[in-house]
Amino acid sequence: MLVVMQSHATEEQVRAVCERIESLGYRAHPMPGAGRTAIGITGNSGAIETGSLDSMPGVVECIAVSKPYKLVSRDLKPENTVVRIPTPAGEVTFGGKAVGMVAGPCAIETREQAFTIAEAVRASGARLFRGGAYKPRTSPYSFQGMGEEGLKILAEVRDKFGLGVITEAIDNESLDLVEKYADVIQIGARNMQNFSLLKRAGRARKPVLLKRGMSATLDELLMAAEYIMSEGNYNVILCERGVRTFTDHTRNTLDLSVVPAVQRLSHLPIVVDPSHGTGRRNKVLPLSRAAVAVGADGILVEVHHDPARALSDGPQSILPEEFSQLMREARDIAAVLGRTLN
Ligand code: PEP
Ligand code: MN
Repeated sequence: MLVVMQSHATEEQVRAVCERIESLGYRAHPMPGAGRTAIGITGNSGAIETGSLDSMPGVVECIAVSKPYKLVSRDLKPENTVVRIPTPAGEVTFGGKAVGMVAGPCAIETREQAFTIAEAVRASGARLFRGGAYKPRTSPYSFQGMGEEGLKILAEVRDKFGLGVITEAIDNESLDLVEKYADVIQIGARNMQNFSLLKRAGRARKPVLLKRGMSATLDELLMAAEYIMSEGNYNVILCERGVRTFTDHTRNTLDLSVVPAVQRLSHLPIVVDPSHGTGRRNKVLPLSRAAVAVGADGILVEVHHDPARALSDGPQSILPEEFSQLMREARDIAAVLGRTLN
């Protein structure tokens, strides 16, 4: 259910409707938009008796939302959500005119490694650095990440290079720490349907980067985002990182058509990760170009100065000079579409 308020409704009127919704035992989610505020209602198992809401001051109408996802839906909010990430080097946005750029190693391995890569990507113009401190690995014998030590290195990267930092939480325990250190909390593909983790991320006070599960449909991705939003965290960035198919020329198949599909159904921004999407260094640049061209709200790539010795995802990590080329080409393609990079 969605309560649409008049464009000139006052804050008190919006608040009064939210209070009425809560008094009925539901949860109210006010979503201010350019033209009007809509209030999403969740927590109901059946139809909601709208009689008492319909007639409240400032209300235009109550609309039943037929889709399974409500808060992520464009029905609730016709304008794009712009997720704003403050960094020491300035704000980076996802969902606005600028394409958000994110780069860094798959995993934080040492302070020196993180600093070398951070310095290079910052020099190329990136303002968001991504590196894993907790790594969900297929094998229990593979490098699992540095844990809190890695988070501390990320905090140093922020201070030293002026970069905002993004890192993955793999369970509720690591999320507590990630929330403390990072600017954006990543939920990885393998955890896209870890519902208790999604709920915990929904209670976090930092934006969430939610990666699509490797066999998740669009509806499943949107429902995972709905879990986060239904707990009150509306700053969700979706991420296409490839899905598993029969191809053997790439690690995954990057589903670029999901970008316009998401943008049609949802107001949330969607970024593309061609590193996991292809698994091959030589395909990251061409697919990054394509991602900007298709209208992605951001690009996330893995960069390593010595990929042959990387502790994870070396084969798909591009070199710093390749990242620099990627930034130049992405900027040119974005300009054709009237967009910029940030
Ligand atoms: C990662 O971002 O390094 C990662 C593990 O990605 P994904 O969850 O998409 O596999
Ligand atoms: Mn990786």
